[in-house]
Amino acid sequence: MALSSLTVHKAQDLLRQKEISPKEIVEDLVRRIEQVDGAVHGYLSFDPERALKDAEHADVSLPLGGIPISIKDVVSVQGHPCGCASKILQGYVAPFDATVIKKLRAAGAIPFGRTNMDEFAMGSSTENSAFGPTRNPWDPDRTPGGSSGGSSAVVAADEALAALGSDTGGSIRQPAALCGCVGIKPTYGRVSRYGLVAFASSLDQIGPLTKDVRDAAMIMNVISGVDPCDSTTLDEAVVDYTADLDKGVKNLTLGLPKEYFIEGLDPQVEEAVRAAVAWYEKLGAKIVDISLPHTEHALSTYYIIAPAEASANLARFDGVRYGFRADGITGLLDHYGKTREEGFGQEVKRRIILGTYALSSGYYDAYYLRAQKVRTLIRRDFDDAFAKVDAILCPTSPTPAFKLGERTNDPLQMYLADVFTLAANMAGICGISIPCGFAEVEGKKLPIGLQILGKTLNEATILQVANTYEQSTDWHRLKPPLR
Ligand code: GLN
Repeated sequence: MALSSLTVHKAQDLLRQKEISPKEIVEDLVRRIEQVDGAVHGYLSFDPERALKDAEHADVSLPLGGIPISIKDVVSVQGHPCGCASKILQGYVAPFDATVIKKLRAAGAIPFGRTNMDEFAMGSSTENSAFGPTRNPWDPDRTPGGSSGGSSAVVAADEALAALGSDTGGSIRQPAALCGCVGIKPTYGRVSRYGLVAFASSLDQIGPLTKDVRDAAMIMNVISGVDPCDSTTLDEAVVDYTADLDKGVKNLTLGLPKEYFIEGLDPQVEEAVRAAVAWYEKLGAKIVDISLPHTEHALSTYYIIAPAEASANLARFDGVRYGFRADGITGLLDHYGKTREEGFGQEVKRRIILGTYALSSGYYDAYYLRAQKVRTLIRRDFDDAFAKVDAILCPTSPTPAFKLGERTNDPLQMYLADVFTLAANMAGICGISIPCGFAEVEGKKLPIGLQILGKTLNEATILQVANTYEQSTDWHRLKPPLR
């Protein structure tokens, strides 16, 4: 049996029955990576020796005992490179474990490998990686989505049992949708970001990408909770997210927002999502139409707030403290200028310039302050909706995976990839993407994602809704045509 294709919960069962060992899982992953990662390029690096050493001491009685989990290159793992797929962090090795990594280790998991991403998590296709794009395992000519495209691709290609990603505007859910896996963005403050390299601090969250919903719940159980090192974490009890998975949807009301079924939505995506909605109705849920009237402003608002915060967060990469430093420097300003010019890629520079402009005196009120006000309206839309419904159903991405290179010269087209995911970050609510079908494009099968949004700290409900669908469908079991 290929151990690399196991779900986390199946691997846990087999480990506890002593049918397999953590070492065998790591060895099988290494084999699989050697076999397919040349074509996928989901990993920037991995350290089999260290993973094997960790595997030898793994205690399989712990909640994730002996389970390797692949980590997006934006989360610090002590002694591993943490480069955010950027040249500017070349050679930088993380001196400490992020809180999520500490929690994973305490639960017996093995942090394994660094997954590719868009540089500093800015992008929707992994094409902004300084080390070349990741390819979609369903069609190597297409993107896996982004920015956590390395994480989604390695999970889909069975080069990982599960992975961590980060989601600022859709970077877990959109790649999960495009690669046919499960990805959850937790409520803002549910998971500590201590040790996550900051992109936009009022939006960023870490979350799992997995092969099924139960795995996502198991990892959420471990990584959630308050953290004295991250003052934005919420001091609320962590419920057992696996407890309600099988409760069904009979007593639930699910909302269908009309603003998410708009022009530009791919007809095959719409058809799959509407079929999923009909399926929920059959399973006993009550479906109601709702409206989130400020949705159309989410994209423009996000592209003020996220770059503004990024421009401040990325000021620290100056060639003095971390990683790369330019050669042939003549003075301090030249040092900053050359290092940042050579170290950052195009999209990161674009964001820094946009963000600096939006925050500059004279423009702050017109852009940043205004965007914050619109953000409040977006949050209120969701408050009103969740007064009537338990969760919201909509597409995760307006299209299936697009071709590599197709949008790289048109930032606006690229930004539109996240039109359905950004609002959840702006409102701070939780959301999950699960497979709900396939589009047939040019003779290839491309996964489609269903997004389920839930109110603040209601991860248990969206996991329950997601699991109910997954248990009665087979989409999540289909594997990409990789040899
Ligand atoms: N694609 C969006 C962006 O480029 C979201 C990225 C993210 O969630 N990290 O900003």
